[in-house]
Amino acid sequence: MVWHLNQWWRNRILEREEIPRHIWQKVTHLRCLRGMNVDELRRLQALILLFLHAKVINGAHDLEITDEMRVTIALQACIPILNLDLGYYDDWIEIIVYPGEFILDYEYMDETGVVHHARNIASGEAWLSGPVILTWSENTSMHTGSAHNVIIHEFAHKLDMLHEGANGCPPLHADMSMQTWHDVFSQAYATFCSQVERNSDTVIDAYAAESPAEFFAVMSEVFFETPLVLKQCFAAVYEQLALFYRQDPASRTLVE
Ligand SMILES: [Zn+2]
Repeated sequence: MVWHLNQWWRNRILEREEIPRHIWQKVTHLRCLRGMNVDELRRLQALILLFLHAKVINGAHDLEITDEMRVTIALQACIPILNLDLGYYDDWIEIIVYPGEFILDYEYMDETGVVHHARNIASGEAWLSGPVILTWSENTSMHTGSAHNVIIHEFAHKLDMLHEGANGCPPLHADMSMQTWHDVFSQAYATFCSQVERNSDTVIDAYAAESPAEFFAVMSEVFFETPLVLKQCFAAVYEQLALFYRQDPASRTLVE
């Protein structure tokens, strides 16, 4: 019954609304859409409309959120769940967008029980069951040539948090092996950390060495933005991400 109501609600929205054509034309240049077929683009548009109904996007520091910004953010948030479901983003509502990098001022307790005060400059943040915080800049909406995508990064954290908090392992599907995921990611993470130790100028953003959770989020960015790079650097990680996201973006780039 819940599913039927849910489906009814979804159909009602999709019958009544559409993404304005001039906005859609502006966002289709985004690199993470490359090679998508007509069916994938149609399903992505439907997800964007449902996402925008389910979430609230607010600007911080008087930043005005335009319709084009809403679609741009929703589009990139929906890429990871294109073959999953909007239900993966069910336990939170708000997205807060800052006009530029923001200061994170917080306290945390380390393993020995000592409380530290930290102040970091951040471009995004995802809170457990809370909001997603993003920054809006030229790079958020443009093809930049790098694999960096703060929106995909933060939404990957949201998926990761669905299984035992942010630990680099999202809820795997029944046909996946937890052991294989763990082995593949542990090994790749260790390799990457030693690469960064030797030379921080790595092809993949060195920030991935921060923690297993950041490794998963950064690998997810690379998976969707420059999939061939990930396949070349960490083929087994690519394979696990393809199983989890149920997408093969490398094959899409080869179609072009
Ligand atoms: Zn992160």
